[in-house]
Amino acid sequence: MEDLKSIIRNIPDFPKKGILFKDITTLLADAKSFQRMVDLLSHRYVGEKIDKVVGVEARGFIIGAALAYKLGAGIVLVRKPGKLPSETFKKTYDLEYGTDTLEIHTDAIKKGERILIADDLLATGGTMGAVVDMVKELGGEIVECCFMAELEFLDGKKKLPEGKCFSLLKF
Ligand code: IMP
Repeated sequence: MEDLKSIIRNIPDFPKKGILFKDITTLLADAKSFQRMVDLLSHRYVGEKIDKVVGVEARGFIIGAALAYKLGAGIVLVRKPGKLPSETFKKTYDLEYGTDTLEIHTDAIKKGERILIADDLLATGGTMGAVVDMVKELGGEIVECCFMAELEFLDGKKKLPEGKCFSLLKF
């Protein structure tokens, strides 16, 4: 895993001063690393019944779509406000300063469907916590929340259902 970790680059003071941003675009742009990351993540769920993968805007779409294709599942988009055209369910959640909102189509998940949620990175867990609430609200059964990478020192796992969080690369 160290080779995959080392290809992720650190950008100091992005998006604001004091934050060391993990820029995963370098991993996505490297053919072998991207393929390996998708293979390793999808392998974990081979043999599990997954009806849909939920991808979180925007980098979660890339990972979510690749996993959905590999697992023979549908892909559902969780988007920023005002982007989804049909009826949506909205969830507002707390950030360090202020709040943010995400939306999902109300008919995107049917009651009892088995859902894998995918995003690029777990930091404080606020984003994924909101997505978990949305999926549950629509009646989905969460198989797991999966991430390409996790900032372990932020302990985002505590905001997610116990034992339902997996990240490939840990920082
Ligand atoms: P959280 O809600 O604090 O867990 O932040 C996770 C969300 O913010 C994810 O959707 C990530 O895409 C994004 N994010 C936060 N920090 C980083 C980072 O260092 N690199 C890439 N994405 C990040």
